[in-house]
Amino acid sequence: MLDNNRRTINYLRLSVTDRCNLRCIYCMPEEGVSFIPHGEILTYEEMLRIIRLSVQLGIRKVRLTGGEPLVRKGIIPFIKKLGEIGQLKEIALTTNGVLLEKFARELRKCGICRINVSMDTLKRERFRQITRMDFFDQVWKGIEAAEAAGLAPIKINVVAMRGVNDDEVVDFARLTYKKPYHVRFIELMPVGKTNTGTAEKFLPTEEILEQICTLGPVRPVDSGPLDGPARRYVLEGAKGEIGLIGALSHHFCETCNRLRLTSDGRLRGCLFSDQETDIKTPLRQGRNDPHLLELIIKTILDKPENHGQDTCNPRKCVRPMNSIGG
Ligand code: SAM
Repeated sequence: MLDNNRRTINYLRLSVTDRCNLRCIYCMPEEGVSFIPHGEILTYEEMLRIIRLSVQLGIRKVRLTGGEPLVRKGIIPFIKKLGEIGQLKEIALTTNGVLLEKFARELRKCGICRINVSMDTLKRERFRQITRMDFFDQVWKGIEAAEAAGLAPIKINVVAMRGVNDDEVVDFARLTYKKPYHVRFIELMPVGKTNTGTAEKFLPTEEILEQICTLGPVRPVDSGPLDGPARRYVLEGAKGEIGLIGALSHHFCETCNRLRLTSDGRLRGCLFSDQETDIKTPLRQGRNDPHLLELIIKTILDKPENHGQDTCNPRKCVRPMNSIGG
């Protein structure tokens, strides 16, 4: 389906839970997190109903995110059911990797096509500082288990932060010589009212690319229609590739194909806009499919034209990232 700016909306990002087993400094506060009450979180059946309806409107790819999707009980049977939705071409997962060693084989078997693992550092102590937890080895074991299970490509998401991990850009890029990973550098985004100090830590993708080019010749790679907004590059002789996601400096609003469903049943057209459609209440009131379809159509049509970050008064969304689904 096309939105009012003639963008094709075919990708749904689904936050299956707002709970997480890490407390990343740019995503969640260390303490005092107020989680959505369990009764307010959509059941898997409710999520499946909304996804089946969205598929009727042209959604072809679903990415499970959170919070941490692998902490929600019953995630594997849920993914299996998603796999039964015929017109869905792709089911992907974004995870912090802490539970990946346990789940990698099952994920491969139940039809996950793509997996993104968030890993912002190659240093154990720094991992503890960024995530406030001590799971560095566990995440690496998870990445290796995913590789052994045949999940490919494995994308490693690195949120690049000045003064935090900017000295590791080259090390992460070098990893692609040895491993077939797709290392994707993501610009830090000012999402959530408690996420402060992002401007000082912001590292634009141009600077990241400059650092990567010090390693040797870099060749751009073309992307397919469901491949997402990363600008992709390969270092000569590398097994893997590098992606740059300039969500702020090179925003991709003109081609944004995304719709989001939060774990408490709100549809959102844009990460940066708190404009939401409550689909859970009518669903729980027993409203019929045509009514729910109308709500999805309205959200798609009303999708903001851009993320509103380029102005001198940038739009700031209040909901934290773990609750929207990054
Ligand atoms: N728990 C999973 C994980 O860690 O990948 C999925 C949820 S997490 C919110 C999804 C992605 O959003 C991660 O790659 C994370 O690094 C990214 N993210 C969270 N807050 C961000 C921010 N303020 N700026 C940029 N990326 C952010």
